Amino acid sequence: MKLTFLGAAQTVTGSRYLLEAGGKRLLIDCGLFQGPRNLRRRNWDPLPFAAETLDAVILTHAHIDHCGYLPVLVRNGYRGPVYCTPGTADLCEVMLRDSARLQEEDAAFANRHGFSKHHPALPLYTSEDAEAALRLIGPREFDVPVSLGEDLSFRLLPAGHILGAASVVICCGHTVVAFSGDLGRPDDPLMRAPAPPVHADYLVVESTYGDRLHAARDPEDELAEMFARTFARGGLVVMPCFAVGRAQEILYYIARLKESGRMPNVPVFLDSPMAISVTDLYRRHMRDHRLTLSQLHVLDHAAFMTRTVDDSKAIASRSGPMIIIAGSGMATGGRVLHHLGLYASDPHNTIALVGYQAPGTRGATLEAHAPAIKLHGDYVRVRAEVSSISSLSAHADYRETLRWLAGMTCPPVRTFVTHGEPAAADALRRRIVETLHWDCCVPEFGETVELPEAPVRDSPSGTAQARLPNPLEHNP
Ligand SMILES: [Zn+2]
Repeated sequence: MKLTFLGAAQTVTGSRYLLEAGGKRLLIDCGLFQGPRNLRRRNWDPLPFAAETLDAVILTHAHIDHCGYLPVLVRNGYRGPVYCTPGTADLCEVMLRDSARLQEEDAAFANRHGFSKHHPALPLYTSEDAEAALRLIGPREFDVPVSLGEDLSFRLLPAGHILGAASVVICCGHTVVAFSGDLGRPDDPLMRAPAPPVHADYLVVESTYGDRLHAARDPEDELAEMFARTFARGGLVVMPCFAVGRAQEILYYIARLKESGRMPNVPVFLDSPMAISVTDLYRRHMRDHRLTLSQLHVLDHAAFMTRTVDDSKAIASRSGPMIIIAGSGMATGGRVLHHLGLYASDPHNTIALVGYQAPGTRGATLEAHAPAIKLHGDYVRVRAEVSSISSLSAHADYRETLRWLAGMTCPPVRTFVTHGEPAAADALRRRIVETLHWDCCVPEFGETVELPEAPVRDSPSGTAQARLPNPLEHNP
């Protein structure tokens, strides 16, 4: 059995792991590299294997750094199945179509302005490529074993994080390899707690927050204070927001604050067609989250859902306090740019940053309290308050990750720490070694490791496997 780390090795994007087991070749996650140019360039590198030689792709979840490379794989000849949960399948439709549209827009922009050394500049993939990829998706329910061949099967376990997110447990003979995917938080108000596999011989675990603990503050309090400050001075709030997960979480908190009378009943606009579509999906996947139908009903009515461009433009004709939630989450594009252009220069207003702002993005410029931001070619002065709400996160911190790991009944033979910047990955590795005393390493990009078959463990009665818990189950 062999495992090759084709992405998310000492970085947080481009999750792709090639597992060769039981005579089959499986790709676990098929993500885009995002962020700095040197990473994004890897999306254009030739595949290190012939796409048609893969037997199956298994996706942990629908974030683009986990599924966004799928259209390239399909364009290069992959025709096999793509497995994921039903929630991930539905989200992939939203995410991959949006990603293809952005790729096409970027290429068109480069051609108009002569940015690219390629003539014409081509998109990484097109909408047709995305549709071809979507046609290969075969949803599989959580907790149901799926056979991939003789003595080879997998199962998806709930990982919290976002709708449909899963950990993947693969059984080859009596050897078990598990991939955590992105782990959510045990006490998330919307998403269920991630469930660790009972046992794995080899484990790949994410480390986004391997060197950090989340702020102990209650996000509801942080938001309440920011809203109160802004409305007391007669301002409004512009909130660049991720469409998947974060927008719904913000609506949840706003609904609670209004219900408890901790904030005035100001109008709220969810000005993101993508976030509106994602909010609709919560109703179709009730097992994936903690919200009841009546809570979803409240969420649906917590904001005016502005789907059309005309509805979006009409927001500007209003005056008085209000909250405008719009994409994109790092203010790199989308409708939020229009609102920033209108409202960033007024010191009464607040720009609320409610998610991670990657270096080099407009959101990071705002977070660093730059005096101006560039919008559509012009500089706009930032005189609004810029407020970062730090207590919101869809990722487990290191203490929560250790708790998830400790839920396994016996230590893996080897644990691989991925999906973290080098300092975060190494910090989690050290903590796993010191706290759990597990054999643990941080793999390099492109590294291949041999995974020897796990020894058959004898029970006291001598019956192989008799004492082992079923690795395909999980701890509740
Ligand atoms: Zn994710």
